Amino acid sequence: MQSSDRTNMTRSAVLSFIGGHGPTSRADLARTLGVSPALITQITKDLLAQGLLTELELSPSRGGRPARLLGLAVDAGGALGVKVATDHITLVECQIDGTVLRSATEPFDATSSDALEDLVALIRVFIADSARTSLLGIGVATPGNVKEQSVGTVESTQMGWSQVQLGTRLRQEFDLPVLVDNNVNALATAEILFGQAKGHDDALVVTIGTGIGAGIIADSMVLRGRNGIAGEIGHLPTLEDGPLCQCGARGCLEALIGEQALVDQARKQGVLTAREGIDALRDRADSGDAGAQGVFAGAGHILGRALAGVVNLLDPEVLIISGEGVASWKHWMYRFEPAFRACLIPAKRGVPVAVEAWADDRWAQGAACLVLGTPFDEQGRSGAQGEWVRQRLSDTTKPQTPEAHTAIAQTPRSQVSAQAQPDNAQAVK
Ligand SMILES: [Zn+2]
Repeated sequence: MQSSDRTNMTRSAVLSFIGGHGPTSRADLARTLGVSPALITQITKDLLAQGLLTELELSPSRGGRPARLLGLAVDAGGALGVKVATDHITLVECQIDGTVLRSATEPFDATSSDALEDLVALIRVFIADSARTSLLGIGVATPGNVKEQSVGTVESTQMGWSQVQLGTRLRQEFDLPVLVDNNVNALATAEILFGQAKGHDDALVVTIGTGIGAGIIADSMVLRGRNGIAGEIGHLPTLEDGPLCQCGARGCLEALIGEQALVDQARKQGVLTAREGIDALRDRADSGDAGAQGVFAGAGHILGRALAGVVNLLDPEVLIISGEGVASWKHWMYRFEPAFRACLIPAKRGVPVAVEAWADDRWAQGAACLVLGTPFDEQGRSGAQGEWVRQRLSDTTKPQTPEAHTAIAQTPRSQVSAQAQPDNAQAVK
C-alpha cells in the first residue's frame, strides 16, 4: 500500500469527521484520526485551497486565544449513490461529507431485457427531485464483479448480466462522472468512513444473505485485486461434492449457507413447506421452532469455520457481519461463536465481531462514497472519472463569504451527524 493511498483516505476521513462532529480544530483532528499534526496541516491546507473546508474563528468559552476551527463547505457538491439489487434499487443523495440528504427504494427487475432503460428512468426521476445543482457524479453498487470502477462494466451471475456496460450507458444518459463497484466493496467503503471499521486500518466486512460476500479493508483501503474480485468468500471450497453453486463448482460456502441453500435444507427437513421461504424460516426460528433454529445454527457453524480461516489469513482488527441475513443472526450466533473461536490461531482468538443491522441506505451511501472519495484519489484508481469529478468540484467551489462561514458554524451537530452515525449497529462481542 502506498503512503499516498493512506493520505487520500485520511482526507476523506477529515471531511467525514467534520461532517459528523461539526467544526473541529486541527489538533483534535490529528488526535482523533491518529495521524501526525504535520499530515493534518498539509491535508487541511489542500482542502481549504480546494474550497472543501472553510476556516472559522470562534471564541473559546474560557477566554484566551480564539480557537481556529475548520468547518465543512457543504455547498461544495454532492453525489448520488445507487444500490442495485436483483429486484429493487435504492438511491441516496449525499452531501460532500457523505451525509444522506434523502433516499428512495424502487422496485426493479435486473433480469428484464429492459433493465438498463428502467434503471436510467428511475435515476432520472430521482435526480429531477434534487434541490442541488452541483452533483459531482453518480456511484453505483452492484452484485457481481466490476474490473475497473471508472469503466463500470458489470459481470453478475446473480442478475444474469454479462459484460453489461453500465458505466458507459449512465455517462451517456446523464453527462456526469460515473463510478461502479461491487456492492460489498461499496459497503466496505461506507464502513471505513461512517461505520464500525472507522478508526481501524484493517477490517473484514462480511455480508450474509442471498449471497455470501466480503469487503477486505487493508491499510484503510478496500482491496480490489487484479479484476475487482477480491473478497469473493462465497466461493470458498467448503464441502467436497457438495451442492452445485451458481459459479459452476460444487460445495462453495454460498451453496451451503446462502439464503436459497437454507430454504432448500429446511424444505427437505420438513421445517418449511414448498411454498415458504426465508422469512417464514426466520419467523419459525424466532418463535422457538428447534428445526428452524437448527438450520441457522448449522449455517453459523459452517460460517464460523470459514471466517476463522479468512481472519487467520488477513489478520483484521475487527470482523463486521452485515447483509440482510443478520436479521436472523441470533440463531446463527449460537454455533458461529464456538466454531469461529476454535479455529482461530491463538493470537487472533480475541478478535471482536460486530454485527451491523441491514440497511439499504448504507450500501447506497457506500456507492456515493465511490464518487466522494475521488477528489483525493491521487493514485488514479478512479481514472478519467476521478479527473472529471475533480474538474466539476473546482467548477462549483468558490471562495466562501463570511455569512456562509457563520451559517455552517451554527449548524446543530445533531442535525449534521444524524445520518452519519451507525445508529443501527450493535456490538456483539
Ligand atoms: Zn461458487
